[in-house]
Amino acid sequence: MKLSVVIPIYNEEQVLPLLLAALLPVVSKIEHWDYELVLVNDGSRDRSLEMLRVAAKENTRIKVLSFARNFGHQSAVTAGLDFADGDAVVVMDADLQDPPELLADMVKLYEQGFDVVSPRRASRDGDSFFKRSTAAGFYWLMQNMVDKRIPSEVGDFRLFSKAAVQAIRKFREQHRFMRGLVAWLGLKEAVLPFHRQRRAAGETKYPLHKMLQFSWTAISSFSALPLRFAMLMGLIACAAAMAYVLYVVAFGVILKQVVPGWTSLVFLICFFSGMTLLSLGMIGDYISKIYDEIKQRPLYVLGEVHNIAGVVAEPERVVVLAPRILE
Ligand code: UDP
Ligand code: MG
Repeated sequence: MKLSVVIPIYNEEQVLPLLLAALLPVVSKIEHWDYELVLVNDGSRDRSLEMLRVAAKENTRIKVLSFARNFGHQSAVTAGLDFADGDAVVVMDADLQDPPELLADMVKLYEQGFDVVSPRRASRDGDSFFKRSTAAGFYWLMQNMVDKRIPSEVGDFRLFSKAAVQAIRKFREQHRFMRGLVAWLGLKEAVLPFHRQRRAAGETKYPLHKMLQFSWTAISSFSALPLRFAMLMGLIACAAAMAYVLYVVAFGVILKQVVPGWTSLVFLICFFSGMTLLSLGMIGDYISKIYDEIKQRPLYVLGEVHNIAGVVAEPERVVVLAPRILE
């Protein structure tokens, strides 16, 4: 049996040596299991790629895929799953927030017949208060508004059986939210509590704007909720407008009082224009997603690969740039 460990890497020169030092002894000691690492460089601008080249040269079990530019964490995970050929595949972060010591237990659950093993963050003391509260809000929204099957406090750190990986590879959509895809498949899943550690070194690669972008992709790729919200707001606004008209009529006709009402008029105009623009924006976002999908562009571009035998089978919607032979 072979275990693949897929790790997306974006500007992680500080953690890479720590990662390999912690991970390699663990994976090489799991009984009856061989291993490979699939390290995906997501267009790092620091020395990560050079370090990966060296690691791949020293250890042929380390596969390296390097993107031509930064395609984002979810694309990097996709690439790793496309090229991992283990019987079980684990996806984990580079920063050791996902403890490698958990791998042996995850493999055991795989051996018991589970297709997905999802470590759940029982605590996340290493994360800031801000990160914990935004994450809590995100999981609440996911569970209550998007898809109940998405387990809370489960991130992308997971083990997948070969069958699960083959199923996931079939999804070639542009705006990807892996956790949603996995939930959608409805695979046999085991949950394993763990304590999330502090980042081993370096800074988070998920600043606020990336987190917001990610949440929006998660919500809009798996539900029409925002569109329904626009509809609901529209209905409420219309009802309020009707009530207001009745109120004005009552005052004007019955009580013979004329209300000057410029303030309320301006307010109403602003409010309704705002509502219209908001709804149009939401619809526009969905349309732009449809536009992105129909273009059928590749999901990522590989500029460089190491220890991958000739890239024999190029996965669907992937570009592999041929290496240039320098004289
Ligand atoms: N990452 C990536 N591309 C990006 C952003 C992040 O491949 O555009 C990787 C990063 O190197 C790390 C993982 O995704 O291995 C998770 O990032 P990070 O630990 O910074 O996120 P956080 O734990 O703070 O949510
Ligand atoms: Mg992290």
